[in-house]
Amino acid sequence: AADNQTSVDSRAHEVLRETFGFQQFRGSQLAIIRSVVGGDNALVLMPTGGGKSLCYQIPALLRPGTAIVISPLIALMRDQVEALTHNGVRAAVLNSSLDAETRRQTLSDLMGGRLDLLYVAPETLLSGFMLERLSEIPLALFAIDEAHCVSQWGHDFRPEYMQLDLLRERFPGVPRIALTATADERTRREIEQQLLPDGGQTWVSSFDRPNIRYQVGVKHNGRQQLLQFIRQRHAGDSGIVYCLSRKRSEATAEWLTEQGIEAIPYHAGLPPEVRRRNQERFIREEGLVVVATVAFGMGIDKPDVRFVAHLDLPKSMEAYYQETGRAGRDGLPASAWMVYGLQDVYQMRQLLAQSQAPLAQQQAERQRLDALLAFCESPECRRQSLLAYFAEQHDGNCGNCDNCLEPPATWDATEPARKALSCVWRTGQRFGALHVIDVLMGQANERVRQWGHDKLSTFGIGGELDKRSWQSLFRQLLARGYLQADAEGHGRLKLSEGCRGLLRGEESITLRRDAVPTRRKASGTAA
Ligand code: ADP
Ligand code: ZN
Repeated sequence: AADNQTSVDSRAHEVLRETFGFQQFRGSQLAIIRSVVGGDNALVLMPTGGGKSLCYQIPALLRPGTAIVISPLIALMRDQVEALTHNGVRAAVLNSSLDAETRRQTLSDLMGGRLDLLYVAPETLLSGFMLERLSEIPLALFAIDEAHCVSQWGHDFRPEYMQLDLLRERFPGVPRIALTATADERTRREIEQQLLPDGGQTWVSSFDRPNIRYQVGVKHNGRQQLLQFIRQRHAGDSGIVYCLSRKRSEATAEWLTEQGIEAIPYHAGLPPEVRRRNQERFIREEGLVVVATVAFGMGIDKPDVRFVAHLDLPKSMEAYYQETGRAGRDGLPASAWMVYGLQDVYQMRQLLAQSQAPLAQQQAERQRLDALLAFCESPECRRQSLLAYFAEQHDGNCGNCDNCLEPPATWDATEPARKALSCVWRTGQRFGALHVIDVLMGQANERVRQWGHDKLSTFGIGGELDKRSWQSLFRQLLARGYLQADAEGHGRLKLSEGCRGLLRGEESITLRRDAVPTRRKASGTAA
């Protein structure tokens, strides 16, 4: 057996060098390859850019028969096949977008044993016809890419993935390797149960991206803040700016270009040829900024993206990790920068509330957003918090995030928080933060008088803080779940169950002090 192992190792190295042109395996690649070549199932959890593909591509070449790779992303399959073919590997794609002739040719290559790897969409694989064909030929393995799509809890759920468990019964003895960049416990357990109930080893790589510097700030004037960030830290660099809407993507790209930073939009509403052109330009040109909605990125492999900026909140910690993960794939220093404010919290909550998804899924989405908000407001090391979310421990502070580099000041906000909560209660839980703040600060404006809120016991009890501090406090109470915003998106605030202890004075609360925005100085003034 030891001899056998040595020969697998040396053959694997040979393929790595001669076919892929790399000198060394990364992390646990070799161990995974050994195990799969030996016929075991595997679940591979590796961050984007970690090198998952080789974990099945090399076993595909070392085991007899054709390897079947299941992936939901047509564009990605095409790229992979192109790269493999370029390296002299016999690979092809089968999906519904092919013309009849190409399809016939591919099938004939498959049946004639002339393919090392075949990439298929799950629905193509699951057709009775395809399953029949596959049972007639020797198979090296099944690789199930984007395996988190099997998770009903996750946001990329695809029902066809659930049916992939039939591979186990129809093709006993063919090893299955499931791969994903989503690492939370729950998704992982679901993948194990659904796709590998017959066992197999789970390989967890570190999700840390030490070269990425994380920074999360409070939004005052998002665009200006973005511009300053790019000018000060990333002048002339390639970067991705994420925002929520198509309109904002276009407007922001235009504005940045006017400010002298060349930027192009990218979103699902652009004509396909414009989208393709913009994507290609971004990959080829240096120093270009793409302002994108989340449509951008699935399958973007540009190693030298120096920054990812979020002008709007991503919808979960997973999304934040994925999107920021597109920065610095070459291992050189890169930034993940984000600003957000009260308005963004409202907006995201509203988007979730409009969701047509089943209830359990809506609830999961809310939890994931809450986790992201807690992360934003946390005064602790960003890397520690981020990795902890993926059940990974990071020893000590990272020294490469805003909270490590400039520890935020915190303050005991117990008293003002109680006042804020009780004022929300007194005004009938029907108003947004701005109105409640007016009442707290004793602003007897027309709206306040019209509702008789100048007569409330909470009118004018909040003189100790200025307006900006109150806004910060409300944002943090909302982010931490002491307050809830209404589903209709009017920003009406309600108390949550969790606020009782605080309201009764049984609990205290410490909040982070928002950084005060640096005023733009008149030219000529020394900094
Ligand atoms: P993932 O699928 O995990 O996002 P990929 O498999 O696409 O990652 O690999 C990311 C990049 O790293 C690719 O450009 C790939 O060629 C490169 N890569 C993978 N393994 C190695 C290795 N052992 N040595 C050098 N480069 C590697
Ligand atoms: Zn840190």
